[in-house]
Amino acid sequence: MPAKEILSETTRPFIISGPCSAESQTQVLQTAQALREKGVHLMRAGVWKPRTRPNSFEGRGIEALDWLIEAKQATGLPVCTEVANAQHVEACLDKGIDVLWVGARTTVSPFAVQEIAEATRGLDIPVFVKNPMHADLSLWIGAIERIQSATKGPVWAIHRGFSRYGKTEFRNAPMWEIAIALQMAMPNLKVICDPSHIAGKRDLIPSVAQKAMDLGMHGLMIESHIDPELALSDANQQLSPDALSELLNSLTIRNLQTEAIHTENLDSLRLQMDSIDEQVIELLNARMQLAREIGRYKRDHSMTILQMKRWKEVFKTRGQWAKDAGLGPEFIATYLEQVHKESIRVQNEEMSKKK
Ligand code: PEP
Ligand code: MN
Repeated sequence: MPAKEILSETTRPFIISGPCSAESQTQVLQTAQALREKGVHLMRAGVWKPRTRPNSFEGRGIEALDWLIEAKQATGLPVCTEVANAQHVEACLDKGIDVLWVGARTTVSPFAVQEIAEATRGLDIPVFVKNPMHADLSLWIGAIERIQSATKGPVWAIHRGFSRYGKTEFRNAPMWEIAIALQMAMPNLKVICDPSHIAGKRDLIPSVAQKAMDLGMHGLMIESHIDPELALSDANQQLSPDALSELLNSLTIRNLQTEAIHTENLDSLRLQMDSIDEQVIELLNARMQLAREIGRYKRDHSMTILQMKRWKEVFKTRGQWAKDAGLGPEFIATYLEQVHKESIRVQNEEMSKKK
């Protein structure tokens, strides 16, 4: 069945899986064979890998496209890969890759997205657009619109979380409210969640996948590798085909009618609120970690914890920010007092520790 027809099926969840990177002919073929019986609809594998630092594994390039096509011929599974420029698109079309996706690092660049769009103009090729690295809904929508106005194939979105500075629970913060806002802005758009890139580690993948399903997302893209520990990229966030199957069987899939993401109602507002509260708590924790660091600094430099001048300044500036934002003065005063109290407590804890 051509990929376009597979994408037009109403199957939910629609499952995309396969290795982060195509590493060898054998790895691609073995993974495809293992995934065929696990309920996967579309196989993924990166061929050109955008790596954060140089000298990392950057993918096998064009020759790996042949391995994907061979795997497709052997198993019947349609295949998809990431494209970052017009040459990538042309090579994929030339080889017969079924579906393309635009990666998070590419979605941030309107020039690159437009170039990719032009390379698909008038063709019947399905394209998925991952969210940009940073939390910018308009940029994501803009990239989707650029592709939609060029290809004749279906265009879907992939939510893979947003990059944040510092150490956090997730590799990429899910910020579910942005995926919900996208769905509200484009109600006919199919949105897939990529729990691997959100979680960054295997044990967090199931809860992220379940949350995506609870939000009514159309499907999941989960990285899988025949031998995850040995993967050349993203080894910690890939599942073995058996673990993938176990995860898929464990998911609770609720009826679409009742799901919040498709309705502009109280549930969807509450879901957005949940996500924001989660982030507020994460930010408060980051603030307390800084207080600890300050505590250690004061200990090492024999300073006192309470520095009245600094605290007065904090109270004044935050009070003004809150006022400008329209928050009640009493609320913000209570909040600041509590934060200050907790800050002193954790600084104290650090100061009483031995160097
Ligand atoms: C990937 O899917 O392997 C990938 C590089 O994803 P992202 O663009 O979401 O980082
Ligand atoms: Mn990856």
